[in-house]
Amino acid sequence: MMMLKKGCCSLLLLLGLVRGLASTSPSTGKTLVSGKKVVVVGGGPVGLYFAALMSQKDPTVQIEILEKRTGKSVNAFGLGVGHRMQNRLNDIPGLCEKAIEISATVESLNIPLVDRGDLTRQMSSFVLDKFGSNCQLALGEECDSVDFENKSIITNTGRTIQYDLLLAADGVNSKIRQKLVEKEPETFQEQHYLENSHWKALSLPKQPDIGKGSFKPLRHPSIASGRVLPKAPEGHVLLLFWRDEHGIDNPMGIETTEDLKQMITDAMRDKNTRGVNPLRKLLGLEQGDSHKSDRVVVFEEAALEAFISQRAGRSHHLKINQYHYQDSVALIGDSAHAMNSLLGQGCATGLESTHTLVQCLLGEEETTMEKALSRYTELATKEAHAMTELSLINYAIKGPLTILKALPLILLNMLRGRGLLKRLVDISVPFSQIAKENKSLLKMCRRKFEKQRRAFAN
Ligand SMILES: Cc1cc2nc3c(=O)[nH]c(=O)nc-3n(C[C@H](O)[C@H](O)[C@H](O)COP(=O)(O)OP(=O)(O)OC[C@H]3O[C@@H](n4cnc5c(N)ncnc54)[C@H](O)[C@@H]3O)c2cc1C
Repeated sequence: MMMLKKGCCSLLLLLGLVRGLASTSPSTGKTLVSGKKVVVVGGGPVGLYFAALMSQKDPTVQIEILEKRTGKSVNAFGLGVGHRMQNRLNDIPGLCEKAIEISATVESLNIPLVDRGDLTRQMSSFVLDKFGSNCQLALGEECDSVDFENKSIITNTGRTIQYDLLLAADGVNSKIRQKLVEKEPETFQEQHYLENSHWKALSLPKQPDIGKGSFKPLRHPSIASGRVLPKAPEGHVLLLFWRDEHGIDNPMGIETTEDLKQMITDAMRDKNTRGVNPLRKLLGLEQGDSHKSDRVVVFEEAALEAFISQRAGRSHHLKINQYHYQDSVALIGDSAHAMNSLLGQGCATGLESTHTLVQCLLGEEETTMEKALSRYTELATKEAHAMTELSLINYAIKGPLTILKALPLILLNMLRGRGLLKRLVDISVPFSQIAKENKSLLKMCRRKFEKQRRAFAN
C-alpha cells in the first residue's frame, strides 16, 4: 500500500512536471540562449519548428539553419498532420495554418495530408517572414564535420561556423549523432534497427474514378501493403511497402516503368484474388478474379522513372539513451528517435520533444546550459521511447496466430475506453501512459520484432 502511494505520488509529481513544461506562455526574461548563436543542422519540419518556437520565446537568439536539399522531390510522400502535430504547431500563432495551407484531407481519417516538400517550404517561408531578423536559412549547405571541443562545424562550402548550441535536426541518418556515438560509445548507447520493410511513394495525376480524399488500399503479390492517398492541389500519391523477400530496390518483378504501370493497375483494381476471404467465397459473397474491374490508371512518365531509380526507404527503429552532449549539442526529431510510419506519430514526437527542449532552454533560476540539456534528455527520452515502443504495434497484425493473441488485449482496452487510436488523438494523454496501458500487447510485439529486426549499419 505504501509502495502504491509512493508510486501515485511520483506519478502525480511527474504529471505536474510535464504539465508545467507544457505551458507555452511567452517568456518574459532572459533565456539560456539569449544573444547566443544556435546552429540547426537540418531544415526538416522539426528543425524549422525549433527555429520558430525558440525565436518566439526569445528574439535575441541568433539561429542559423543549414539544409542540404534544394529542389522539389518528384515522389515526395505526404505527412498526416494529426492532432498532436497540430497542437504543437499551434504553439506559434499562424504556423499550423501556414503548414497545412497546401494540403488534402484523408476523408476517412479526417486529417490533412501535406507533401513533405510543401510542408518544409511553407514552414521555411513562415520562419523567414516572421523571424527573419534573427533566423537565417542556408539552403544547399551541408554540415560536413563537427569539432565538438571548439564548438564549430565546417560546411560543404568550406565555411566554418562557431556555435554556442548545435542542434542535430539532420534526420534518422544523422551524421552528428553518428559522430557522438563514435566519440563516446559509453555515453551514447544506441539501439538502431531496421524493420523488414521497404517503401517508396509514387505521384499520380488526377484519376478519372478515384475520390479526392481516397484512402484506398492497394493489393498485389509484389507488395505487403499500400494505399492511394490524396495529394494537394490535385492528384494522388501512392505509398507502397514491401518486405526483403519481395525485393530490395523495387518490389519483386518491377524493373521497368512498364512493369510498374502493370503492377499499379492490378493493385488498384477493386477486387483482387489476394485478400479474398475464403469463407465469403464459399458463401458466394466474393468471387475473386471474375469480378475484377478494369480500372484505367493515368500515369506521369517522370514520376514512374524517378520511382524506379530512387533508393527505397527503410523503416527504422531508433532509441538512444542520451539526447545531449555536455552544454553544447542536442539531438532533436528523427536524429534522436525514429519509428515506422504506421501510427503516423514520428514528426509529432519530434515536435513534442523539441517543445520540451525549448521549455528547458527558457531556464529556471540558477540553471546552467548543461543542466537544462540534461533535463531535456530526462524528459524527452521517456516520451519518445514510449512512442517508439508503441509503433511496434504493427507486429500485432502480422500473421493469423499473432492477431488471435493480440485481439483480446486490443478489445479489452477498447472496452475500458482506452483504445490505442482513441488515446493517440487525445493530446492530454502522454505517450508513456498509452504504452503503460498496452504493456502486455507491446511485450508480445517486441518479441516478434526482436526475431525479425536487423541491426542498422551505416
Ligand atoms: C512514409 C512515411 C510516412 C510518415 N508519415 C507520418 C505522419 O503521417 N505523421 C507524422 O507525424 N510523421 C510521419 N512520418 C515521420 C516523419 O516524416 C518524420 O518523423 C519527420 O520528417 C522527422 O522530421 P525531422 O525534421 O526530424 O527529420 P527529417 O524530416 O528527416 O529532416 C532532416 C533534414 O535534415 C537535412 N540534412 C540531413 N543531413 C544534413 C546535413 N549534414 N547538413 C544539412 N542538412 C542535412 C535533410 O536534407 C532533411 O531535410 C512518416 C515517415 C515516413 C517515412
